[in-house]
Amino acid sequence: MATEHRTAAILAVGDEIVLGQSLDTNSRWLSQRLFDLGIVPVEHATVGDDLGAHAAAFRRLAERADMVVCTGGLGPTADDLTRAALAGASGDTLVEDAGALASIEAFLKERGRAMSPLNRTQARRPSRAAWLPNGHGTAPGLAGEVGACDVFCIPGPPAEMRPMFEGHVRPRLKPPTDRAVRTRALHCVGLGESDLADRLGSLMSRDRNPTVGTTASGGVVSVRLRSVAPGEAEAERLLDADEHEVRRLAGPHLFGADGETIAGAVVGRLVARGRGLVVAESCTGGMLGAMVTQVPGSSAVFRGGWIVYDNRAKVADLGVPGALLGAGGPGAVSREVAAAMAEGALRHGRDRDADTALAITGIAGPEGGSPDKPVGTVFVALARADAATDVRRFSMAGDRESVRRWSALSALAMLWMHLAGAPATRLLREIEATTGVSGTGA
Ligand code: AMP
Ligand code: MG
Repeated sequence: MATEHRTAAILAVGDEIVLGQSLDTNSRWLSQRLFDLGIVPVEHATVGDDLGAHAAAFRRLAERADMVVCTGGLGPTADDLTRAALAGASGDTLVEDAGALASIEAFLKERGRAMSPLNRTQARRPSRAAWLPNGHGTAPGLAGEVGACDVFCIPGPPAEMRPMFEGHVRPRLKPPTDRAVRTRALHCVGLGESDLADRLGSLMSRDRNPTVGTTASGGVVSVRLRSVAPGEAEAERLLDADEHEVRRLAGPHLFGADGETIAGAVVGRLVARGRGLVVAESCTGGMLGAMVTQVPGSSAVFRGGWIVYDNRAKVADLGVPGALLGAGGPGAVSREVAAAMAEGALRHGRDRDADTALAITGIAGPEGGSPDKPVGTVFVALARADAATDVRRFSMAGDRESVRRWSALSALAMLWMHLAGAPATRLLREIEATTGVSGTGA
């Protein structure tokens, strides 16, 4: 038995995970949960439904960490091998547990089901291990040991795994009492990961406390801080000091912390300023509106939008001049049409006090590109009642989904930079600065 759980390893079990048929969400959840409790995850491992590989993984991880949490493989069928793997790794044999058997029987009886011989196998455990009750399914969990490492085995289905972790694993954990670990994330838009790293400079050296790292995902670059200190207050204080410094260095690019999103930050600013937003979307087909309305309280600022995918909708619904779309005009994916869409949305939104409009038109692919406008070419326009229309041209990378998501996010990033007082900032993936160009649709 480990005297203290300073480090943990997480083991996911199942052919479906190894073969890529389903996603291992358990390990992510467990890592976050353990880390919150002050236990540092040091490895994620995944094995298929294979007794030898599973037992070997238990033995190897037991050498690396003070504790292991294993999910999956506790079902009633022949491919559920966690019980046997734990017995194998700890040189133990399986026995039937009367208490576990009674709990499975009671669970089934409550639901009007009879005990089958297969369910009965779920009552087996290594003779030196304890079983953990499952209030949400038939599979009991296991708490055992491999050498000096504590091993907890819990069911694969997240709806059973989470309550068992909280109810029966967590009380058995022994997080270190001599130190606290705290993390914080600070999110930025409108600059690349290396630009941000340049700004952060020596804050990112690996030997400091807090450690400072960056990650990029879908147009948002996040600064991740992690502090270790003798107590919680000191760990928080270290984070506060670094957050202050990161905010200074990132300037207007920084829009939020931890669970905050760019849409949430934009909505917050618009609410504070009493503004009303409308959107006009072509290639994103409503994604921008969806991102905005995902934010609780967005009804205070979001005044609606138009999905003008077809050129006739651009003309009929928003008054985009037909000449821009016809032969000889700049075409649907152009600076002029983006501006006309935004200005048309603003005009049509006046009856509901809209004073800010975002428009997106682009080529999401895989078809439709041309040499001067390849797939990924996207124009975003921001029109406001009190300022010239701003249009940007972007070159988005990736597949259709990626182009669409980046487009909606870039529209929000563009509005954010305006609201944050840095309207001229060149955004990520922007290829041609055209600030201040006014469209012909107004
Ligand atoms: P098992 O306990 O191996 O029979 O797993 C039962 C079910 O739990 C699987 O079919 C998955 O739907 C789910 N599951 C198992 N492992 C994981 C995991 N690591 N992450 C998310 N779901 C899982
Ligand atoms: Mg399985």
